[in-house]
Amino acid sequence: MATSLRVVDDVEFYCCTGCGSLFAHPDFLAAVDDGTAENYRDEYWAKELAAARQRSWGAGIVRVAEILRLARVPVRRFLDVGSGPGFLLDSLTGLLPTTVGMFHGVELFPHRRPTAVHIPTITLAPSLP
Ligand SMILES: [Zn+2]
Repeated sequence: MATSLRVVDDVEFYCCTGCGSLFAHPDFLAAVDDGTAENYRDEYWAKELAAARQRSWGAGIVRVAEILRLARVPVRRFLDVGSGPGFLLDSLTGLLPTTVGMFHGVELFPHRRPTAVHIPTITLAPSLP
């Protein structure tokens, strides 16, 4: 069961009454998956890249630190779901160079990185295996 929250850019968003998770209308998500709805295209990334880079060196680092600190089991591999161009992975690799191979990302709509960067810990994949 879910309650409707609001409509943003013709997409209705809901809140699950059981757990509080927020999600877009399932028909929109299906349309994105089958390519009939425009989403995360060049226009989106043109607006999002600067903010994504900024988050990756601020709030993103804090969230990862919280996850690692609060984990009840040792974290050997970390997957950034919806990693965009991999900026958070860049910052983690820079801050934690001894953790090469630990951090990975997956992005359904990967954006070509603005500069050619080779970081061995990044795994950008169009979908989970
Ligand atoms: Zn729920």
